[in-house]
Formats: sequence, C-alpha cells, structure tokens
Amino acid sequence: MKYNSLVQMLAVFPDEQSCIDHLENLRWGAGIVCACCGSTRKIYKRKSKPGVYRCADCKKDFSIRKGTIYEESRIPLRQWLIAAWLMTNHRKGISSHHLARELGVTQKTAWFILARLRKAAEQAGEGSGPLDGPTEADETYLGGKEENKRANKRLSAGRGAVGEDMVVGARSRSGKALAQRGVSASKKTLGKFIRRHAPEGSTLYTDDHKGYTGLGAECRHEVAVHSVGEYVRGKARANGIESFWAMLKRGYYGVFHHFTWKRLDRYLAEFSFRWNLLGLEGGERLDALLVHGFNSRLTYRGLVDG
Ligand SMILES: [Zn+2]
Repeated sequence: MKYNSLVQMLAVFPDEQSCIDHLENLRWGAGIVCACCGSTRKIYKRKSKPGVYRCADCKKDFSIRKGTIYEESRIPLRQWLIAAWLMTNHRKGISSHHLARELGVTQKTAWFILARLRKAAEQAGEGSGPLDGPTEADETYLGGKEENKRANKRLSAGRGAVGEDMVVGARSRSGKALAQRGVSASKKTLGKFIRRHAPEGSTLYTDDHKGYTGLGAECRHEVAVHSVGEYVRGKARANGIESFWAMLKRGYYGVFHHFTWKRLDRYLAEFSFRWNLLGLEGGERLDALLVHGFNSRLTYRGLVDG
C-alpha cells in the first residue's frame, strides 16, 4: 500500500504485527531463508511463539530481527519504522534529542537507533555503484567560523582552517551525489576520491584548485575558474554540487551542530541517501532504507568504537 505521510504510515502499520509482516515481506518475499544457517529447505512457524521460526536443518529458532540492525533490541519494530520514517523524510535529518522526544525513549536509545539506521544508509550507498556520466567534484568544510568560510576556501593556499572537517564530494549530472570525509584538499585525497567514484573516461568538472590538476589523463577535465569570478566557462561549472553542500550544511548547522570526525562518513551517507532518493514517495524511501538494515547488525560497543 502506498503512503506518503507519517499519518498514512501509522494507519498502514497500526500495530507490531503489521510491522513484522512488512519487514518479513521485504526480507523474505521470495521465500524464507534461515537467518542462522542460510537453509531454505524446511522452515516452520513456532505455534507457541508468534513471529518465531524454526529451521529443520540447524534446529535453531529465529525471527525477522535475527542478523539485522533490529537484533538485540527490545525496541518495538513500530518504533523503528517511525524512526526510519522521520530520518528518511526530514530533509535535514533528525537529531537523537528530537527523536527521543518523538518516540518517548531515552536519548541514548534514540542515538543507537539512528546510528544503526545510518549504517543501513551507508550500505545502501556502497551498493549503489559509481556515479553516472559527467560528474562535478568539489570539497567543502564543516565547522569553523562561517563568515570566513568562503575566503578560506577560495584564497588560502591549503584551503580550510583549523577546527574544520573537510568533506569531498561529487555529483553526477543525473543528480546523484556522494561525499566522504577527507584529510586535506591535496591532489592525493581528491584524486583518490575521484578515481574511486567517477566513471572512467567521463567528463569531470571542478574549480581551479590545484588539488584537481593532473586528472586529465583519466577523464576529460574541465575547469571553472571561481577565483576570478568565472562560474561558467562553456559547460564547466561546479554549481551542481553546491546544492548538495547547502543541504548538508543546513542539517549540520540547523539540526546536528556537530558530527564526530570518526563517524562523519556515516552522516554523509545519511545525507547522500536522502538526496539520491528525493524523487521517491515517502514509503518507497522508507523501504529503501529498511531493506539495507537486514545485514547491518551492529552492537552498541561496535557503534561507540567504530
Ligand atoms: Zn538453519
């Protein structure tokens, strides 16, 4: 059933069983697979335990939560679905403090839910393949003094300032965007990112920062010279990725206020996930996240350390 608002979603999933049914359908629509040993031979429902299955091969019980981001949590699946809805449909994301209030859970629980959902978004990004066609690449900075940002970026030799986290990103002309943390705006960092994500032989658009020089051997490289105010030269322009940066910064400054450096890539995956699925209905975007949660079991310790 289609739904495109939180109210409609809550009507489609009025109770825990409807959420179990939905997740089972997403995960095992083509046939149930033992979550313990992978067998598909003979699996039957435990009559005494709703939602629990037993595998005739390994003799173990499992539920839809087994081996997923929902495992080892007593949080009702309906709460998970509501959290996933809010995360995928709030364009700037939702903070753990805000989610805790919406769900009536502790901030620690809300943080854990969001961290696991972010992991699912990261898996979705990894599975989505390289960018397609002509690609614009750029870097930006999060944190630091906003009023100095433009000058820092355009004028200093090294770009960026102390206290800022560098992010390198790319957006293809079809609109798909991705980003990851970088250590410096060096040729090494930028070149590695572009080689990994831009399709070989495609046209690459950047500004005239020296970190982007020397890529012409692998792709057709066109440069828009921002430093002299030339934003468009022929087709070369880096304005497309700017709209993705604008969304990321609205989330960073307006919702989260801070991203932990070692978890920055996961936040970037969350923003890319939403961005790349903007054209979908709310319910389709929710399902796209839920399906990537099935192979993302992550313990609290794993989240805190990793
Ligand atoms: Zn089994």
